Amino acid sequence: MSEPIAYEVVIGLEVHAELITESKMFCSCRADFFGAAPNTHVCPVCIAMPGALPVINREAVAQAIRAGLALNCDIAENVRFERKNYTYPDLPKGYQITQYELPQAVNGWLEIDTPNGPKRIGITRAHLEEDTGKLVHENGVSLVDYNRAGVPLLEIVSEPDMRSIDEVNEYLIRLRQLLIYIGASTGDLEKGAMRMEANVSLRPADSQELGTKVEIKNLNSFRAVRNALAYEIARQEKILRAGGQVEQVTLGWLEHEGRTYVQRTKEDAHDYRYFPEPDLPPLHINRAWVEELAAALPELPRARWQRFVAQYGLSPKDADILTAERSVADYFDALAAEVGDALPPKKVANWVMGDLFRLMNESGLPIDAIPVTPAKFAGLLKLLAAKTINANTASQVLKTMFRTGEDARAIVEREGLAQVSDAAALESLVGRILAEHPDEVARYREGKTQLFGWFVGQVMRETRGKANPGVVKKLLEAKLAGK
Ligand code: ADP
Ligand code: MG
Ligand code: ZN
Repeated sequence: MSEPIAYEVVIGLEVHAELITESKMFCSCRADFFGAAPNTHVCPVCIAMPGALPVINREAVAQAIRAGLALNCDIAENVRFERKNYTYPDLPKGYQITQYELPQAVNGWLEIDTPNGPKRIGITRAHLEEDTGKLVHENGVSLVDYNRAGVPLLEIVSEPDMRSIDEVNEYLIRLRQLLIYIGASTGDLEKGAMRMEANVSLRPADSQELGTKVEIKNLNSFRAVRNALAYEIARQEKILRAGGQVEQVTLGWLEHEGRTYVQRTKEDAHDYRYFPEPDLPPLHINRAWVEELAAALPELPRARWQRFVAQYGLSPKDADILTAERSVADYFDALAAEVGDALPPKKVANWVMGDLFRLMNESGLPIDAIPVTPAKFAGLLKLLAAKTINANTASQVLKTMFRTGEDARAIVEREGLAQVSDAAALESLVGRILAEHPDEVARYREGKTQLFGWFVGQVMRETRGKANPGVVKKLLEAKLAGK
């Protein structure tokens, strides 16, 4: 009997990201309409009144170029908008203005982590287009809201380079992180700022040719992408194992039923009758402008992660946590600079990921809104490094700082929290505690050495946690040994 054939999964993604701009792609309506009543952010251009003419939004083009650069793409010098013709009630013009033959950015890549090391996922293209309106189905009627019609979108098309659902997930996380870092998109999935389409096929593991793919549309969360792919991979594998053939179709995903359904059999590009948009000039992108935009890009997440590992000696995992969001990475850079040599960066990182993140979680405050600035936090950590306070006290003081925004030193002085390191004072205290607990001392000396921690605890209690633990341990060791 021969082994059953193994199949390899092949996946390529198309991601639509709403770009952050003041106005829409081709008119001056505000692009951010969150919370507005339906059809209040509309004008003759975006609801397609006859004779209304579009004008290209320069900032949207800039955002597309930024994203293209961050994705290691070649930025096209000549771009052309085209009409993609189809009818749907959410599309007022009966066509969508998009870039087709001459997209804004091509031939890039995004690096992701896999269990086998880093891997580059090819970016075929990233092109600008306009969003559609939105249909709302309620009480047996369908209503249309054109507020979203004309919002700038960047469609980012990957090569069929992903080989597993985990790689897809990692790609989406990194892509979203990148777009947020450069300020191109909010990445807010709940508000639909990122919408995915997944293309997937299977092929025998040793084959070089691509199998027939299906496209799953309207995936609005990373979870939906994962679930839809898992369903589809299983469905295709079953067909292939039974000797059948996968049909090339466009599918929808029914989240609540956990299954895909056929929306239509495959359309071809020629069905859309693309042609150059006669109301817009071809766009020539000035090289100097691209260079200006490139120079203004922030340090990108991957580079920052590598720097955090190299410069601060952080573990890859910790560096990943601290660079996940740009604001947190900025905070850490500022904090580490303020702390300087006083404390190793690894320790500083633990304070951020431990105590600070806990306080942020409890309060729900983002890092750029907390009262503990990097300078103030550094002030606290320097008191710790100088052994003015111990770690336990530092943790308490940080809580107060988080609430009041005070300086660490002010709190320590007011509340008399400076660490007791004075050996003479501690020595008499240790002596007193041992004298008060003769039984425990006897048991300790008979070999019950676990009691040591209990003695430390007593000293800490008496000093309200302020005793220098190192000094206390030395004193206890000496006295318990009978010296
Ligand atoms: P279409 O003509 O259907 O739009 P494209 O070739 O433009 O197809 O690719 C669309 C997306 O599908 C891209 O992300 C691409 O990587 C992916 N893709 C193409 N062929 C396959 C395949 N055989 N299996 C999986 N994904 C594929
Ligand atoms: Mg497609
Ligand atoms: Zn408008």
